[in-house]
Amino acid sequence: MSNQSLLNRIAEEVKTCRKCGLYRCAKNAVPGEGNPKAKIMLIGEAPGKREDLTGRPFVGSAGKLLDSVLEKAGIMRKDIFIGNIAKHRPPDNRAPKPDEIEACTPYLDRQIKIIRPKIIVPLGTHSTKYIMEKAGLEFTTISDVRGKVFDGSALGSKIKIVPSFHPAAAIYNRKLRETIEDDFKMISKIL
Ligand code: URA
Repeated sequence: MSNQSLLNRIAEEVKTCRKCGLYRCAKNAVPGEGNPKAKIMLIGEAPGKREDLTGRPFVGSAGKLLDSVLEKAGIMRKDIFIGNIAKHRPPDNRAPKPDEIEACTPYLDRQIKIIRPKIIVPLGTHSTKYIMEKAGLEFTTISDVRGKVFDGSALGSKIKIVPSFHPAAAIYNRKLRETIEDDFKMISKIL
């Protein structure tokens, strides 16, 4: 079975998932999307309003900022895969709770196992903590680990983990935006 078919199967499961309560307030699940053989995989936190309406990751204001960061780094959205640690929108855009992350991340783990990216870029505290701990690495703070390249092994393959800030944090913060741009320019060079 092709990577795309396997990812489609996960997306179908996510759409009817009832493993935590987040589906109750959500309009659509956001399973993630992108190249089934991506070398770079981005992992966000959870869908926001626009993502919930469309079923697609990073299409709201944080997504616009991310698109501009990717363009400046010469990374095409069609070449990467974008997922989240929580696949339904938490009410009022709150952060996903630990039990919700625990219930949802097996989907993300399966996506990583299928795609086998060379580089995982977790965006923000929650996804960085999740993926670093999965790879047996110590997570301190996002400010401390961002822009660093960690060699880890997770879900059966060797992966470089390069955390960055969450784009939503940079919408009204030019300095943070430049930092994210620098991180992604570096990421495009280590490929
Ligand atoms: N923020 C996220 O973390 N993920 C999305 O898909 C959109 C906004």
